[in-house]
Amino acid sequence: MSEESFELRVVDVVEETADAHSISFEVPAGAEEQFTYKPGQFLTLAVPSDQTGVAARCYSLCSSPGDGGPLTITVKRTADGYASNWLCDHLREGDTIRMLPPSGIFSPVSLDADLLLFAGGSGITPVMSITRTALREGSGRIVLFYANRDERSVIFAGELSRLAAEHPDRLLVVHWLESVQGLPTQEQVRAFAADHASYDAFVCGPAPFMKMAVAALKDLGFPRERRHQEKFISLGGNPFGDLHDREVAEHEIEDAEHDPDDVSGDVSGDEGAPAAEEDQPQGPVKLEVELDGEQYVFDDWAPGTKLLEHLESKGVKAPYSCREGECSACAVRLLEGDVKMLHNDVLDDEDIADGIRLGCQSVPVTDTVKITYH
Ligand SMILES: Cc1cc2nc3c(=O)[nH]c(=O)nc-3n(C[C@H](O)[C@H](O)[C@H](O)COP(=O)(O)OP(=O)(O)OC[C@H]3O[C@@H](n4cnc5c(N)ncnc54)[C@H](O)[C@@H]3O)c2cc1C
Repeated sequence: MSEESFELRVVDVVEETADAHSISFEVPAGAEEQFTYKPGQFLTLAVPSDQTGVAARCYSLCSSPGDGGPLTITVKRTADGYASNWLCDHLREGDTIRMLPPSGIFSPVSLDADLLLFAGGSGITPVMSITRTALREGSGRIVLFYANRDERSVIFAGELSRLAAEHPDRLLVVHWLESVQGLPTQEQVRAFAADHASYDAFVCGPAPFMKMAVAALKDLGFPRERRHQEKFISLGGNPFGDLHDREVAEHEIEDAEHDPDDVSGDVSGDEGAPAAEEDQPQGPVKLEVELDGEQYVFDDWAPGTKLLEHLESKGVKAPYSCREGECSACAVRLLEGDVKMLHNDVLDDEDIADGIRLGCQSVPVTDTVKITYH
């Protein structure tokens, strides 16, 4: 099964740095509602691939909802990466590309909160959207720690200094250049964050940077609900099922050998390993769901059926993106009972201990399950 995807036209391409392009899209008439978004959310693009039909990749929106501007992502070339280089090399004004609507949970609950933002390299993209939006619509203070390899690799340098000058009492931007100061250490970040220990923290960047920053926040006692992370990974699956089937059929893969450019992974549409029989309840499960202020109760959730699929079968528009347990757009919180995830690439032990689960991969293991989307 695949989510409804849309073809969007490129209206602008800006070379931000030598290896990062901002690409803006026009939302097609009639799809405005689907493309409303929160700061920090991402789009999932269907990047054409000769080998698999599509390489699905997520890109955070750096634009700010509600400012009247187009939807914009910023793509940084990954060394030897397939999709990021394809997007930077091929997409030009007037081209179109297929994508899924905005998704994700890396977004402040309140734009009035004080925000402590950590961005490393291209991790600035969702952080930029949060910063732009909170400055325009919110009232809190924003402290941004922004790490880059060197001065030339700083994306949005000009706009950040302009925003900091316009909002001297609300925005503080601290640039950290590896070429000058070396890699930031946990102790340095801890010392920096200590003055802002009551803020809501958001962390996005390369894996080692995130690990270090999150460890520093944990050291300072930031509770889970004030520690948000966005992991930039490449999806292994393909939520554009129809595109894959059609285009692969057209391309009739001639060479079965692995192409080093093709790292889009398994696109077989595999539904994942079924839950072991002994883990499954014997009969239909009672499910209670809180979503967007609505309450739903169903008493016929079949053991072995994934939560997202059950909700879709009931006509409930629950959020999701990759459907593969890789992006967290479908995250829910357990309030009662338990589920088992068939696959999970994003939630860590602490998330799981906090009751967070991925809706696209969760099957019931108790007779009653109550969850909330947040
Ligand atoms: C929610 C989200 C938001 C994102 N936002 C942005 C953004 O704003 N800007 C941005 O530039 N990127 C963003 N990304 C990352 C983006 O989706 C791609 O992962 C990135 O562009 C690299 O894709 P690629 O096809 O160019 O590289 P790939 O071809 O996927 O390769 C990337 C690297 O990973 C290695 N690799 C590939 N597959 C695997 C695997 N299965 N296991 C281990 N290693 C592997 C490759 O060898 C290579 O070194 C985001 C990702 C997510 C999940």
